[in-house]
Amino acid sequence: MLIRQPLRLAALLLALAILVAGASLATYQLSQRMGFSELQSTGRHRLDLYAESLEREIGKYAYFPATLGLEREVISLLRGAGSPSRVNSYLEQLNERAGTLAIYVMDDRGQVLASSNWRRADSYVGEDLSFRPYFRDAMTGGSGRFFGIGTTRSEPGYYLSSSLAAEGRILGVAIVKVSLEQLEKSWSTVEAPVLVADENGVVILSSVPDWKFTTLRPLDPATRSAFDRTLQYNRRALQPLGINEVARLDHGARLVRMAGQKQEMISVYPVAGQFLAQSQPLSGSPWSLTVLSPLEQVAGMSAIRAAVAGVTTILLCILAAMINQRRRHLSDRLVAREALQRAHDELERKVFERTADLSATNAKLHDEVAERVRAERTLRGAQDELIQTGKLAVIGQLSAGIAHELNQPLAALRTLSGNATRFLDRGDLVTARSNLERIAQLVDRMGLITGQLKAFARKSSGQPQAVDIRQVVANAIALLEQRLKSANAQVNVHFAENELYARCDANRLQQVVVNLIGNALDAMTDEASPAVELDGTASDTMVRLSVRDHGPGLSSEAQSRLFEPFFTTKEAGVGLGLGLAISAGIVSDFGGTLCGANHPAGGALFTLEIPLAAEAAAP
Ligand code: ADP
Repeated sequence: MLIRQPLRLAALLLALAILVAGASLATYQLSQRMGFSELQSTGRHRLDLYAESLEREIGKYAYFPATLGLEREVISLLRGAGSPSRVNSYLEQLNERAGTLAIYVMDDRGQVLASSNWRRADSYVGEDLSFRPYFRDAMTGGSGRFFGIGTTRSEPGYYLSSSLAAEGRILGVAIVKVSLEQLEKSWSTVEAPVLVADENGVVILSSVPDWKFTTLRPLDPATRSAFDRTLQYNRRALQPLGINEVARLDHGARLVRMAGQKQEMISVYPVAGQFLAQSQPLSGSPWSLTVLSPLEQVAGMSAIRAAVAGVTTILLCILAAMINQRRRHLSDRLVAREALQRAHDELERKVFERTADLSATNAKLHDEVAERVRAERTLRGAQDELIQTGKLAVIGQLSAGIAHELNQPLAALRTLSGNATRFLDRGDLVTARSNLERIAQLVDRMGLITGQLKAFARKSSGQPQAVDIRQVVANAIALLEQRLKSANAQVNVHFAENELYARCDANRLQQVVVNLIGNALDAMTDEASPAVELDGTASDTMVRLSVRDHGPGLSSEAQSRLFEPFFTTKEAGVGLGLGLAISAGIVSDFGGTLCGANHPAGGALFTLEIPLAAEAAAP
């Protein structure tokens, strides 16, 4: 992966480089082709323009020599009658006005008769110029044109000649020599090098001064000697221009290279380097005009266009990469969003399912709780009923004793009240009083017994409060007094503290204690001297009360089923098997515990523990 990444990058860069190079090259070539064709059309346009302006310039002087034939003085001079000095002056003035190099008249033998430069020492006057082609051309064809360098002053010029005739006979030839500068005037604003080569390939006019009198092609010795004969170039060196053809193009155009190491500049255009050469003949002369349009501009423009194409390609590639990157980024985001949406949907579905489950469970739980509450209510109701039943059972058990307990005082009351009446009749008030006091005591005692029974039978308030355990135990013992007496049993109560308050319901706790003492008495029916020990202690949080008897103790079955409702080993009518079950329920309601075990020294030991009341209640 680490290796593949740079490789991929290198391949990408290579592809980019190839693409850029290809685009640049194609643009360069296209641009060059376009540039060439543009340059060619510009060149043609220039060619036409420069040729036209040159022809116009030459044309200005074309009729000049012929007009001299209209001058009477000139004609009479040619006839041998005129005054040469007058013609000389005339020609001098004319030359000055026309701005030409020289104007002169020759006779039919080629002898100069009069000349505008007659004043100068090197004047043409008297010279024989019959060897000059323009003389011969005029004599034979009526007119002549010739480029040449003056033999006397080595001044190059363009010679325009015309024969002068009268009465059908050629009397002589008139010549106007125009300077090259005059002709070149029309090229003062040319934008590219331009030159005019004569029929010999010698540059006679050029916008580049150095190119004048150079040759476009090498000269052979025969041509050179002919030049020497006619003194056409007045023995000038005639060096080659140094123009080399590189390629031939359409419409006669050529790609040429001008010698010169460095790019020489003449005015605004280069004169060395590569050029597009376009030539055309000049009408009315054997000369040809050549325009050299520099290729530099095309090359420069092509290079610029190629560079622009390269940069554009790079920019396009970067743009494409950016678009691609953005597209990928967007698609990644789309994928991520879809994944997120899917996860969200899944989560929502799960939450919905769980919520449905939860609400179902909740509803189930709610139903269960309601069911439990209902069951508990029913149970509590049943328990209350049972407690009440248990109480009534205990009352049933106690009833014989209670009946005995009440019968005795009742019998005593009857006796005492009968005796009291008799003692009153006798007037023995003291004994009667004593009897009545005894009666009152017995009534109080009976009230006490019935009061305890009433209290025991009463349904509890259900509100826990601070209860003095010692009082509860005392009440229970009082309630069982008759049974204890008849069983001849002894009850030993021992409390570690003077006050021992537990948080419970006094009435219900008394029921538990009565039950435990009752069971102990039941277990000790066969004992000679039955005894019950009640022991009350307190810890930080709990009050503990133990009831121990000296009976046979709990059998193993009784131990395992002790708090089971309706478990009893007693005879029918004696026990219902509810006592301990109810007692355990009562103690657990108080937040306490009840357990039964065998004392190591024999007999059963029941221990109940209930929460200590923080504050002592009013008695
Ligand atoms: P019941 O007294 O009506 O039988 P209980 O629930 O009070 O019902 O007692 C259940 C049984 O536990 C008794 O029948 C007896 O077998 C046994 N039991 C209770 N207390 C004692 C005890 N102090 N000694 C021996 N057995 C006992």
